[in-house]
Amino acid sequence: MLDLKAQHEPLKEEIKSVLKEILDSGQFVLGPNVESFEQEIASYCNVRNAVALASGTDALHLCLNALGITSGDEVITTPFTFIASAEAITYVGARPVFADIDGDTLNIDPARIEEKITPRTRAIVVVHLFGQPADMKEIMDIAGRHNLRVIEDCAQAFGATYSGAPVGSMGDTGCFSFYPSKNLGAYGDGGMMVTNNPDIYEKVRLLRNHGTVGPYRHGFLGYNSRLDEIQAAILRIKLRHIDEYNEKRRGIAKLYSSLLGGAVRCPVEPADRVHVYHQYTIRTPLRDEVKKALESRSISSVVYYPLSLHMQEAFRYLGYSEGDFPESEAAAREVLSLPIYPELEPEAANLVAETVLKALGA
Ligand SMILES: *Cc1c(COP(=O)(O)O)cnc(C)c1O
Repeated sequence: MLDLKAQHEPLKEEIKSVLKEILDSGQFVLGPNVESFEQEIASYCNVRNAVALASGTDALHLCLNALGITSGDEVITTPFTFIASAEAITYVGARPVFADIDGDTLNIDPARIEEKITPRTRAIVVVHLFGQPADMKEIMDIAGRHNLRVIEDCAQAFGATYSGAPVGSMGDTGCFSFYPSKNLGAYGDGGMMVTNNPDIYEKVRLLRNHGTVGPYRHGFLGYNSRLDEIQAAILRIKLRHIDEYNEKRRGIAKLYSSLLGGAVRCPVEPADRVHVYHQYTIRTPLRDEVKKALESRSISSVVYYPLSLHMQEAFRYLGYSEGDFPESEAAAREVLSLPIYPELEPEAANLVAETVLKALGA
């Protein structure tokens, strides 16, 4: 599904040299690379502030905490996402409330949000799934009408834009993951929160380091969610190439869509959005047959996600049942993500598409 060695190869001398500097400096956790990386991300995302954290999951958790979301509160999110989007809501004691998705974009359907709002609803966690920006205008309008906070889960969408605005810059906060397989990937775990709100910024900065307000003085209880210098330095190098990486993903997506359009449901790209194709996800009722055909030619493909979150054992306590989110359940039956990464050769993408078409008898 991806080739991290191929991405490392052209960067390896530069990376070795920054690693040497860091090993010689003896400063490993937080430090000049982390600070510069925060400024570079804030500038890239066109926001005032960024706080580097240990993971994308932590970014969601600390943002929910900083926004004052707590036990008894409800937070609306999509049932069709990686579990961390909803799991983070439970970390602050709040209850995830799902709203069904739009079958074309696979993102939360704004038309399904309002019916889920109760007097306890405090926020919406919007996920830009697979690199596709969600319907931010409609979502921000709903949030404004009901006085809800909006947290953007941008873990899969670094570099995506909506009407020219970078994802992460439209809600109250944006949360990124630098897990190695993400579009901007570290060589270990990492995350970032971005915001234009100075209070949220200050709160998350303190939360990441035990609420430390001075030497061994703690204003409140926090966490250990610091980013290390090695990851920050590597990410700074990769950040300079991210637009080129995303452009290459978009080129492969375009090729896939031109070859597969008509035979399967391809990702859509509304005119005002830049999708960065963390995944290229097709839909077909013959998904399992297509997957087998790819396997027989040693081509990987992955079902992201085989089970809607409301059907997960871990969320059984929420009391949902089958049929509650028909669009999300249908997606779970039909989706298949094909190999996509910047270094994927067009000939390889051609072979993938050819195999898919053959499996469908198209
Ligand atoms: C990867 C991911 C996360 C979590 O990020 P980590 O850095 O792995 O903690 C959250 N949400 C989504 C949608 C993700 O894909």
